[in-house]
Amino acid sequence: MRCWAEINIKNLYHNIDEIEKVAPKEKMIAVIKADAYGHGMLKICESLIQKRIRHFAVATAEEALKVKEFDNDVSVLILGPIEYEYMDKISEKNIYFMVTDFEEIKYLEKSQIPTDVFLKVDTGMGRVGFQKYEIDELIEKLKNCKFVKPIGIFSHFSSSDTDAKYTEFQENNFEEISKKIISKLPSVKYKHLLNSFGSLKLKNDKYDFVRVGIIIYGGVTDEETKPYKFKPVMSLFAKISYIKKLKEDSFISYGNTYLGKAGQTYATVSIGYADGVRRDLSNKGYVYYKGHRCEIVGRVCMDQLMVHIPAELADEVKKGDVVEFFGENISVSEVANLCNTISYEILCGISQRVPRIYVK
Ligand SMILES: *Cc1c(COP(=O)(O)O)cnc(C)c1O
Repeated sequence: MRCWAEINIKNLYHNIDEIEKVAPKEKMIAVIKADAYGHGMLKICESLIQKRIRHFAVATAEEALKVKEFDNDVSVLILGPIEYEYMDKISEKNIYFMVTDFEEIKYLEKSQIPTDVFLKVDTGMGRVGFQKYEIDELIEKLKNCKFVKPIGIFSHFSSSDTDAKYTEFQENNFEEISKKIISKLPSVKYKHLLNSFGSLKLKNDKYDFVRVGIIIYGGVTDEETKPYKFKPVMSLFAKISYIKKLKEDSFISYGNTYLGKAGQTYATVSIGYADGVRRDLSNKGYVYYKGHRCEIVGRVCMDQLMVHIPAELADEVKKGDVVEFFGENISVSEVANLCNTISYEILCGISQRVPRIYVK
């Protein structure tokens, strides 16, 4: 294997135990969309079922159908908008989904299939969901529905990691809207709002569920989650394929952006941007190798990249040795910062070409 992502199930379970300090397992909806943030949807699902998690959320109808096919007894909620052609099939499979506007309700009524739905309300995320001014009309419409039965209501935070004030504003909005809806529509039994950071920072006794994603995978830093500590589930490794000691200064990689120095040792590593190592890391990122951070030098190529080997390791570096891109020694959040993005994007950007190796 030239490169691989090691998925550590022990760390996954540690993270669940940590979440249990704020919410019991029965209350957790494990978010496993986007191939479980790159960790492998069905494997993560299976491991979490063994840990007695029963509720899952995904982003698309295809993801939901895969989970249901894997285990028909777990509950699955689709968090993203779905296309009309999927609605019959997923309601038939008892997959929960949300309605976000009046057009969807009209479609479901017209199709005359009894359907349990969640109502998605926009409390300030500005993505999808009923607007506050539409709630009265929504209640009236739903009262007259013969087939659409609202069983729950939820909303989503935009800034629970960074903006306590705005999060409180959204929570108040949600409280107001959900109270009104639940008092007028008795079939609505479930409500939930908190995502990962929301669950760690806010009380959840008002809610039936918490929707946890990134903290399950440990794609967070201790500062962000204090006093809770999460462990990285994914570590990304690759092998050294080639080593050279330069006799004279010479350029390394595309575009001649890095001039290698005479006398220095450089190693080529078998991983590149097609595997999910971002090109932003060119001349900026590093890998962890035998207790040292080695700089990525020159541009990251599609399938390979080069690193500088410090003098202390120059004599012992050898072909086939393994370097870490992120994991126990370099956090994925740190890598994300270097790439001007968030850990989520790095994790789900590890491509399908990279084998996932599950360890217990
Ligand atoms: C992705 C998603 C989550 C999980 O978010 P995290 O920040 O990973 O906890 C929760 N709710 C909705 C609606 C989402 O789309």
